[in-house]
Amino acid sequence: MKPSSFAQLDLIKPLRRAVADVGYIVPTPIQAEAIPHLLEGRDLLGCAQTGTGKTAAFALPILQRLASNKRPPAPRTARVLVLTPTRELAVQIADSFRAYGRHLELRQTVVFGGVGQAPQVYACRRGVDVLVATPGRLLDLMGQGHLRLDRIEVFVLDEADRMLDMGFLPDIKRVLACLPRQRQTLFFSATMQPKIARLADTILTDPVKVAVTPSATPVERIGQKVLFVAQGDKRALLGEVLKDARVKRALVFTRTKHGADRLTKQLARLQVRAEAIHGNKSQNARQAALEKFRSGRTRVLVATDIAARGIDVEGITHVINYDLPNEPESYVHRIGRTGRAGAEGEAISFCDAAERAYLRDIERLIRQVVPVVEDHPYRAANNAPAKAPVAVFPGNGSQRRRPRGGRRPGMSAS
Ligand code: AMP
Repeated sequence: MKPSSFAQLDLIKPLRRAVADVGYIVPTPIQAEAIPHLLEGRDLLGCAQTGTGKTAAFALPILQRLASNKRPPAPRTARVLVLTPTRELAVQIADSFRAYGRHLELRQTVVFGGVGQAPQVYACRRGVDVLVATPGRLLDLMGQGHLRLDRIEVFVLDEADRMLDMGFLPDIKRVLACLPRQRQTLFFSATMQPKIARLADTILTDPVKVAVTPSATPVERIGQKVLFVAQGDKRALLGEVLKDARVKRALVFTRTKHGADRLTKQLARLQVRAEAIHGNKSQNARQAALEKFRSGRTRVLVATDIAARGIDVEGITHVINYDLPNEPESYVHRIGRTGRAGAEGEAISFCDAAERAYLRDIERLIRQVVPVVEDHPYRAANNAPAKAPVAVFPGNGSQRRRPRGGRRPGMSAS
Protein backbone atom coordinates (compact mmCIF):
# COMPACT_ATOMS: atom_id res chain seq x y z
CA MET A 1 0.00 0.00 0.00
CA LYS A 2 1.24 3.48 -0.82
CA PRO A 3 2.00 5.47 2.35
CA SER A 4 -0.42 8.37 2.74
CA SER A 5 1.41 10.14 5.55
CA PHE A 6 4.98 10.76 6.57
CA ALA A 7 4.32 8.77 9.73
CA GLN A 8 3.95 5.65 7.59
CA LEU A 9 7.32 6.13 5.95
CA ASP A 10 9.55 4.74 8.70
CA LEU A 11 11.56 7.89 8.92
CA ILE A 12 13.54 8.55 12.08
CA LYS A 13 12.23 11.18 14.45
CA PRO A 14 14.66 14.01 13.60
CA LEU A 15 13.57 13.73 9.97
CA ARG A 16 9.87 13.55 10.81
CA ARG A 17 10.33 16.68 12.90
CA ALA A 18 12.12 18.48 10.08
CA VAL A 19 9.37 17.52 7.62
CA ALA A 20 6.78 18.92 10.02
CA ASP A 21 8.89 22.07 10.44
CA VAL A 22 8.75 22.76 6.70
CA GLY A 23 5.00 22.15 6.73
CA TYR A 24 4.66 19.03 4.60
CA ILE A 25 1.65 16.94 5.55
CA VAL A 26 1.48 14.14 3.02
CA PRO A 27 4.25 12.74 0.85
CA THR A 28 4.04 13.60 -2.85
CA PRO A 29 3.61 10.57 -5.15
CA ILE A 30 7.31 10.27 -5.89
CA GLN A 31 8.13 10.47 -2.18
CA ALA A 32 5.54 7.83 -1.30
CA GLU A 33 6.84 5.51 -4.00
CA ALA A 34 10.57 6.04 -3.77
CA ILE A 35 11.35 6.51 -0.07
CA PRO A 36 10.55 2.96 1.13
CA HIS A 37 12.80 1.44 -1.56
CA LEU A 38 15.57 3.93 -1.00
CA LEU A 39 15.54 3.21 2.73
CA GLU A 40 16.16 -0.42 1.81
CA GLY A 41 19.22 0.64 -0.13
CA ARG A 42 17.85 0.01 -3.63
CA ASP A 43 19.03 1.88 -6.72
CA LEU A 44 16.43 4.12 -8.33
CA LEU A 45 15.55 5.24 -11.82
CA GLY A 46 13.23 8.25 -11.40
CA CYS A 47 11.42 9.86 -14.28
CA ALA A 48 10.45 13.11 -12.63
CA GLN A 49 11.03 16.80 -12.99
CA THR A 50 11.43 19.62 -10.53
CA GLY A 51 8.17 20.46 -8.81
CA THR A 52 7.26 16.87 -8.00
CA GLY A 53 8.99 16.83 -4.61
CA LYS A 54 11.86 14.71 -5.89
CA THR A 55 14.49 16.46 -3.77
CA ALA A 56 12.92 15.31 -0.52
CA ALA A 57 12.32 11.90 -2.13
CA PHE A 58 16.06 11.35 -2.27
CA ALA A 59 17.33 13.65 0.49
CA LEU A 60 15.26 12.11 3.30
CA PRO A 61 16.37 8.48 2.84
CA ILE A 62 19.95 9.61 2.24
CA LEU A 63 19.98 11.60 5.48
CA GLN A 64 18.50 8.62 7.28
CA ARG A 65 21.24 6.39 5.98
CA LEU A 66 23.94 8.84 7.08
CA ALA A 67 22.39 9.34 10.51
CA SER A 68 21.93 5.65 11.20
CA ASN A 69 25.55 4.97 10.47
CA LYS A 70 27.19 8.13 11.69
CA ARG A 71 30.94 8.37 11.34
CA PRO A 72 33.24 11.25 10.59
CA PRO A 73 34.02 11.48 6.89
CA ALA A 74 37.72 11.16 6.08
CA PRO A 75 39.50 14.41 5.12
CA ARG A 76 38.85 15.52 1.53
CA THR A 77 36.16 12.89 0.99
CA ALA A 78 32.38 12.82 0.94
CA ARG A 79 29.91 10.08 1.82
CA VAL A 80 27.20 11.27 -0.57
CA LEU A 81 27.60 13.02 -3.92
CA VAL A 82 24.71 14.76 -5.67
CA LEU A 83 25.67 15.84 -9.18
CA THR A 84 23.42 18.43 -10.76
CA PRO A 85 23.76 20.56 -13.92
CA THR A 86 23.40 24.13 -12.68
CA ARG A 87 24.50 26.30 -9.84
CA GLU A 88 20.88 27.26 -9.04
CA LEU A 89 19.85 23.63 -8.69
CA ALA A 90 22.94 22.85 -6.63
CA VAL A 91 22.12 25.64 -4.19
CA GLN A 92 18.47 24.59 -4.00
CA ILE A 93 19.35 20.97 -3.31
CA ALA A 94 21.90 21.95 -0.68
CA ASP A 95 19.26 24.17 0.98
CA SER A 96 16.86 21.22 1.04
CA PHE A 97 19.45 18.95 2.64
CA ARG A 98 20.07 21.64 5.22
CA ALA A 99 16.35 22.02 5.97
CA TYR A 100 15.60 18.29 6.21
CA GLY A 101 18.83 17.59 8.09
CA ARG A 102 18.48 20.42 10.59
CA HIS A 103 18.04 18.09 13.58
CA LEU A 104 20.96 15.87 12.57
CA GLU A 105 24.51 16.97 12.95
CA LEU A 106 25.88 16.29 9.53
CA ARG A 107 28.37 18.20 7.45
CA GLN A 108 27.48 19.28 3.96
CA THR A 109 28.74 21.62 1.32
CA VAL A 110 28.02 22.77 -2.19
CA VAL A 111 30.56 23.39 -4.94
CA PHE A 112 29.96 25.09 -8.30
CA GLY A 113 31.90 27.20 -10.76
CA GLY A 114 31.87 30.91 -11.39
CA VAL A 115 32.97 31.86 -7.88
CA GLY A 116 36.30 31.69 -6.08
CA GLN A 117 37.24 28.16 -5.12
CA ALA A 118 39.09 28.85 -1.86
CA PRO A 119 36.05 28.63 0.46
CA GLN A 120 34.96 25.43 -1.28
CA VAL A 121 38.41 23.90 -0.86
CA TYR A 122 38.33 24.86 2.80
CA ALA A 123 34.86 23.35 3.28
CA CYS A 124 35.98 20.04 1.77
CA ARG A 125 39.21 19.81 3.72
CA ARG A 126 37.77 18.12 6.79
CA GLY A 127 35.55 15.85 4.72
CA VAL A 128 31.77 16.19 4.34
CA ASP A 129 28.75 13.93 4.65
CA VAL A 130 26.88 15.42 1.70
CA LEU A 131 28.50 17.10 -1.27
CA VAL A 132 26.28 18.78 -3.86
CA ALA A 133 28.20 19.72 -6.98
CA THR A 134 28.15 20.78 -10.58
CA PRO A 135 30.48 18.68 -12.77
CA GLY A 136 33.09 21.22 -13.87
CA ARG A 137 34.09 22.56 -10.46
CA LEU A 138 33.94 19.10 -8.95
CA LEU A 139 36.47 17.81 -11.48
CA ASP A 140 38.68 20.87 -10.95
CA LEU A 141 38.80 20.27 -7.21
CA MET A 142 39.49 16.57 -7.73
CA GLY A 143 42.22 17.33 -10.26
CA GLN A 144 43.96 19.58 -7.75
CA GLY A 145 43.82 16.95 -5.04
CA HIS A 146 41.27 18.74 -2.85
CA LEU A 147 38.67 15.98 -3.11
CA ARG A 148 38.47 12.21 -3.60
CA LEU A 149 35.37 10.22 -4.46
CA ASP A 150 36.54 6.77 -3.36
CA ARG A 151 34.43 6.86 -0.17
CA ILE A 152 31.13 7.73 -1.81
CA GLU A 153 28.30 5.55 -0.46
CA VAL A 154 25.42 7.16 -2.35
CA PHE A 155 25.60 8.84 -5.75
CA VAL A 156 22.72 10.91 -7.13
CA LEU A 157 22.68 11.99 -10.76
CA ASP A 158 20.07 14.73 -10.99
CA GLU A 159 18.45 16.05 -14.19
CA ALA A 160 20.41 13.65 -16.36
CA ASP A 161 18.68 14.80 -19.54
CA ARG A 162 19.71 18.38 -18.94
CA MET A 163 23.24 17.27 -18.16
CA LEU A 164 23.47 15.55 -21.51
CA ASP A 165 21.92 18.52 -23.33
CA MET A 166 24.55 20.73 -21.74
CA GLY A 167 27.33 18.47 -22.99
CA PHE A 168 28.29 17.05 -19.59
CA LEU A 169 28.44 13.39 -20.66
CA PRO A 170 32.27 13.22 -20.73
CA ASP A 171 32.42 14.88 -17.30
CA ILE A 172 29.85 12.46 -15.91
CA LYS A 173 31.93 9.55 -17.20
CA ARG A 174 35.04 10.94 -15.54
CA VAL A 175 33.21 11.28 -12.25
CA LEU A 176 31.76 7.77 -12.55
CA ALA A 177 35.21 6.32 -13.08
CA CYS A 178 36.27 7.63 -9.67
CA LEU A 179 33.34 6.22 -7.71
CA PRO A 180 33.56 2.94 -5.79
CA ARG A 181 31.66 0.05 -7.39
CA GLN A 182 29.88 -0.71 -4.17
CA ARG A 183 27.39 2.14 -3.75
CA GLN A 184 23.73 3.11 -3.96
CA THR A 185 22.90 5.06 -7.12
CA LEU A 186 19.90 7.27 -7.86
CA PHE A 187 19.27 8.55 -11.35
CA PHE A 188 16.73 11.26 -12.17
CA SER A 189 15.63 12.57 -15.52
CA ALA A 190 12.52 14.37 -16.75
CA THR A 191 12.61 12.36 -19.98
CA MET A 192 13.85 8.88 -20.84
CA GLN A 193 15.06 9.00 -24.43
CA PRO A 194 17.21 6.04 -25.49
CA LYS A 195 20.54 7.75 -24.79
CA ILE A 196 19.38 8.55 -21.23
CA ALA A 197 18.14 4.99 -20.71
CA ARG A 198 21.48 3.66 -21.96
CA LEU A 199 23.41 5.82 -19.52
CA ALA A 200 21.09 4.75 -16.68
CA ASP A 201 21.65 1.14 -17.65
CA THR A 202 25.39 1.41 -17.28
CA ILE A 203 25.35 2.91 -13.81
CA LEU A 204 22.35 1.35 -12.03
CA THR A 205 21.99 -2.12 -10.57
CA ASP A 206 18.50 -3.64 -10.56
CA PRO A 207 16.86 -0.24 -10.00
CA VAL A 208 13.34 0.46 -8.79
CA LYS A 209 11.59 2.52 -11.46
CA VAL A 210 9.36 5.41 -10.52
CA ALA A 211 7.70 7.78 -12.97
CA VAL A 212 5.58 10.74 -11.99
CA THR A 213 4.09 13.72 -13.75
CA PRO A 214 4.34 17.23 -12.30
CA SER A 215 1.63 18.14 -9.84
CA ALA A 216 0.18 20.93 -11.97
CA THR A 217 -2.22 19.07 -14.28
CA PRO A 218 -2.70 20.65 -17.69
CA VAL A 219 -5.51 23.13 -17.24
CA GLU A 220 -7.10 22.07 -20.52
CA ARG A 221 -8.37 18.86 -18.96
CA ILE A 222 -10.35 20.63 -16.29
CA GLY A 223 -13.73 22.25 -16.83
CA GLN A 224 -13.50 25.80 -15.58
CA LYS A 225 -16.13 28.40 -14.87
CA VAL A 226 -16.39 31.66 -13.02
CA LEU A 227 -19.42 33.05 -11.21
CA PHE A 228 -19.58 36.77 -10.49
CA VAL A 229 -20.98 37.32 -7.04
CA ALA A 230 -20.87 39.93 -4.28
CA GLN A 231 -18.59 39.01 -1.37
CA GLY A 232 -21.56 38.92 1.01
CA ASP A 233 -23.41 36.37 -1.16
CA LYS A 234 -20.55 33.91 -1.58
CA ARG A 235 -21.57 31.70 1.32
CA ALA A 236 -25.16 31.33 0.05
CA LEU A 237 -23.85 30.67 -3.45
CA LEU A 238 -21.56 27.95 -2.13
CA GLY A 239 -24.58 26.41 -0.42
CA GLU A 240 -26.33 26.34 -3.80
CA VAL A 241 -23.33 24.83 -5.60
CA LEU A 242 -23.06 22.11 -2.95
CA LYS A 243 -26.69 21.11 -3.46
CA ASP A 244 -25.59 19.48 -6.69
CA ALA A 245 -25.07 15.80 -5.93
CA ARG A 246 -22.33 15.63 -8.54
CA VAL A 247 -20.15 17.63 -6.20
CA LYS A 248 -18.98 14.51 -4.40
CA ARG A 249 -15.64 15.62 -3.03
CA ALA A 250 -14.84 19.32 -3.05
CA LEU A 251 -11.71 21.21 -2.12
CA VAL A 252 -12.66 24.81 -1.30
CA PHE A 253 -9.98 27.49 -1.17
CA THR A 254 -10.14 30.59 0.98
CA ARG A 255 -7.51 33.28 1.18
CA THR A 256 -7.10 33.32 4.95
CA LYS A 257 -6.98 30.80 7.80
CA HIS A 258 -9.66 32.75 9.60
CA GLY A 259 -11.83 32.67 6.47
CA ALA A 260 -11.39 28.89 6.27
CA ASP A 261 -12.53 28.41 9.86
CA ARG A 262 -15.48 30.75 9.51
CA LEU A 263 -16.65 29.09 6.31
CA THR A 264 -16.38 25.62 7.82
CA LYS A 265 -18.65 26.65 10.69
CA GLN A 266 -21.14 28.21 8.31
CA LEU A 267 -21.21 25.06 6.21
CA ALA A 268 -21.88 22.99 9.32
CA ARG A 269 -24.98 25.12 9.89
CA LEU A 270 -26.10 24.20 6.37
CA GLN A 271 -25.63 20.51 7.27
CA VAL A 272 -22.61 20.15 5.00
CA ARG A 273 -19.86 17.88 6.33
CA ALA A 274 -16.80 20.10 6.10
CA GLU A 275 -13.41 20.47 7.78
CA ALA A 276 -10.72 23.12 7.56
CA ILE A 277 -7.03 22.58 7.06
CA HIS A 278 -4.52 25.38 7.55
CA GLY A 279 -1.28 26.38 9.18
CA ASN A 280 -2.76 27.17 12.61
CA LYS A 281 -3.95 23.60 13.06
CA SER A 282 -1.72 21.02 14.64
CA GLN A 283 -0.11 18.40 12.47
CA ASN A 284 -2.43 15.78 13.99
CA ALA A 285 -5.55 17.84 13.36
CA ARG A 286 -4.53 18.41 9.76
CA GLN A 287 -3.77 14.76 9.24
CA ALA A 288 -7.11 13.74 10.75
CA ALA A 289 -9.03 16.21 8.56
CA LEU A 290 -7.22 14.92 5.51
CA GLU A 291 -7.93 11.29 6.34
CA LYS A 292 -11.65 12.01 6.77
CA PHE A 293 -11.71 13.79 3.44
CA ARG A 294 -9.81 11.01 1.74
CA SER A 295 -12.12 8.34 3.13
CA GLY A 296 -15.23 10.31 2.13
CA ARG A 297 -16.44 10.97 5.66
CA THR A 298 -16.24 14.69 4.97
CA ARG A 299 -17.40 15.95 1.62
CA VAL A 300 -15.78 19.37 1.72
CA LEU A 301 -12.27 20.31 2.72
CA VAL A 302 -11.69 24.04 3.18
CA ALA A 303 -8.04 24.95 2.75
CA THR A 304 -5.61 27.80 2.36
CA ASP A 305 -2.98 27.62 -0.38
CA ILE A 306 -0.08 26.80 1.91
CA ALA A 307 -1.91 24.01 3.72
CA ALA A 308 -2.98 22.49 0.43
CA ARG A 309 0.56 22.14 -0.90
CA GLY A 310 1.35 18.52 -1.50
CA ILE A 311 -2.19 17.31 -0.84
CA ASP A 312 -2.79 14.48 -3.26
CA VAL A 313 -6.26 13.11 -2.74
CA GLU A 314 -7.81 11.06 -5.47
CA GLY A 315 -11.32 11.63 -6.68
CA ILE A 316 -11.66 15.35 -5.98
CA THR A 317 -14.60 16.17 -8.27
CA HIS A 318 -14.56 19.92 -7.68
CA VAL A 319 -12.12 22.62 -6.76
CA ILE A 320 -13.97 25.72 -5.64
CA ASN A 321 -12.17 29.03 -5.43
CA TYR A 322 -14.27 30.71 -2.78
CA ASP A 323 -11.68 33.47 -2.95
CA LEU A 324 -9.55 33.88 -6.04
CA PRO A 325 -5.82 33.75 -5.37
CA ASN A 326 -3.81 36.90 -5.95
CA GLU A 327 -0.95 34.80 -7.38
CA PRO A 328 -2.13 33.44 -10.73
CA GLU A 329 0.18 30.41 -10.42
CA SER A 330 -1.77 29.38 -7.32
CA TYR A 331 -4.87 29.07 -9.47
CA VAL A 332 -3.14 26.51 -11.67
CA HIS A 333 -1.92 24.57 -8.65
CA ARG A 334 -5.33 24.68 -7.01
CA ILE A 335 -7.32 23.46 -9.96
CA GLY A 336 -4.73 20.77 -10.67
CA ARG A 337 -6.04 18.93 -7.59
CA THR A 338 -9.01 17.79 -9.61
CA GLY A 339 -9.13 15.97 -12.92
CA ARG A 340 -6.33 13.65 -11.81
CA ALA A 341 -5.40 10.56 -13.76
CA GLY A 342 -7.82 11.24 -16.57
CA ALA A 343 -10.81 11.71 -14.24
CA GLU A 344 -13.25 14.51 -14.95
CA GLY A 345 -12.74 17.56 -12.83
CA GLU A 346 -14.43 20.89 -12.47
CA ALA A 347 -13.04 24.16 -11.16
CA ILE A 348 -15.58 26.77 -10.04
CA SER A 349 -14.38 30.24 -9.13
CA PHE A 350 -16.31 32.91 -7.25
CA CYS A 351 -15.26 36.39 -8.22
CA ASP A 352 -16.35 39.63 -6.59
CA ALA A 353 -15.70 43.12 -7.88
CA ALA A 354 -12.37 43.39 -6.05
CA GLU A 355 -11.14 40.11 -7.52
CA ARG A 356 -11.64 41.09 -11.16
CA ALA A 357 -7.98 41.99 -11.50
CA TYR A 358 -6.93 38.58 -10.15
CA LEU A 359 -9.14 36.90 -12.75
CA ARG A 360 -7.52 38.92 -15.51
CA ASP A 361 -4.05 37.87 -14.33
CA ILE A 362 -5.13 34.23 -14.24
CA GLU A 363 -6.55 34.38 -17.74
CA ARG A 364 -3.38 35.94 -18.99
CA LEU A 365 -1.30 33.17 -17.42
CA ILE A 366 -3.39 30.26 -18.66
CA ARG A 367 -4.03 31.96 -21.98
CA GLN A 368 -7.70 31.14 -21.82
CA VAL A 369 -10.81 32.99 -20.89
CA VAL A 370 -12.67 31.27 -18.09
CA PRO A 371 -16.30 30.83 -19.18
CA VAL A 372 -18.75 32.91 -17.16
CA VAL A 373 -21.87 31.37 -15.65
CA GLU A 374 -24.52 34.08 -15.96
CA ASP A 375 -27.44 32.06 -14.74
CA HIS A 376 -27.22 31.70 -10.99
CA PRO A 377 -29.30 33.10 -8.15
CA TYR A 378 -26.65 35.40 -6.71
CA ARG A 379 -25.34 36.91 -9.87
CA ALA A 380 -23.87 40.31 -9.09
CA ALA A 381 -25.87 42.34 -11.61
CA ASN A 382 -23.73 45.42 -11.62
CA ASN A 383 -20.54 43.50 -11.11
CA ALA A 384 -20.23 42.20 -14.65
CA PRO A 385 -19.34 45.02 -17.02
CA ALA A 386 -21.97 46.07 -19.53
CA LYS A 387 -19.64 45.60 -22.46
CA ALA A 388 -17.49 42.61 -23.09
CA PRO A 389 -13.99 43.42 -21.88
CA VAL A 390 -11.12 42.67 -24.17
CA ALA A 391 -8.46 40.39 -22.83
CA VAL A 392 -5.03 40.82 -24.32
CA PHE A 393 -3.08 37.61 -24.52
CA PRO A 394 0.62 38.19 -24.67
CA GLY A 395 2.61 36.08 -27.02
CA ASN A 396 0.08 35.47 -29.78
CA GLY A 397 -0.16 39.08 -30.85
CA SER A 398 -3.94 38.99 -31.08
CA GLN A 399 -6.84 40.07 -28.94
CA ARG A 400 -9.61 37.73 -27.96
CA ARG A 401 -13.02 38.54 -26.64
CA ARG A 402 -14.39 37.12 -23.46
CA PRO A 403 -17.29 34.82 -24.31
CA ARG A 404 -20.41 36.11 -22.64
CA GLY A 405 -24.04 35.55 -22.00
CA GLY A 406 -25.71 32.16 -21.94
CA ARG A 407 -22.78 30.15 -23.28
CA ARG A 408 -22.72 27.85 -20.31
CA PRO A 409 -26.06 28.37 -18.67
CA GLY A 410 -26.87 27.06 -15.23
CA MET A 411 -24.47 25.73 -12.70
CA SER A 412 -24.35 22.22 -13.96
CA ALA A 413 -21.24 20.34 -13.07
CA SER A 414 -21.06 18.75 -16.46
P1 AMP B 1 11.16 19.65 -5.83
O1 AMP B 1 10.46 18.92 -6.92
O2 AMP B 1 11.98 18.78 -4.99
O3 AMP B 1 11.92 20.83 -6.37
O4 AMP B 1 10.05 20.26 -4.85
C1 AMP B 1 9.09 21.18 -5.30
C2 AMP B 1 8.44 21.97 -4.18
O5 AMP B 1 7.55 21.13 -3.43
C3 AMP B 1 9.40 22.53 -3.16
O6 AMP B 1 9.02 23.86 -2.91
C4 AMP B 1 9.21 21.68 -1.94
O7 AMP B 1 9.44 22.43 -0.76
C5 AMP B 1 7.77 21.28 -2.05
N1 AMP B 1 7.48 19.95 -1.44
C6 AMP B 1 8.22 18.84 -1.51
N2 AMP B 1 7.62 17.83 -0.87
C7 AMP B 1 6.46 18.30 -0.37
C8 AMP B 1 5.38 17.73 0.39
N3 AMP B 1 5.38 16.46 0.75
N4 AMP B 1 4.35 18.52 0.73
C9 AMP B 1 4.34 19.83 0.35
N5 AMP B 1 5.30 20.43 -0.38
C10 AMP B 1 6.36 19.68 -0.75
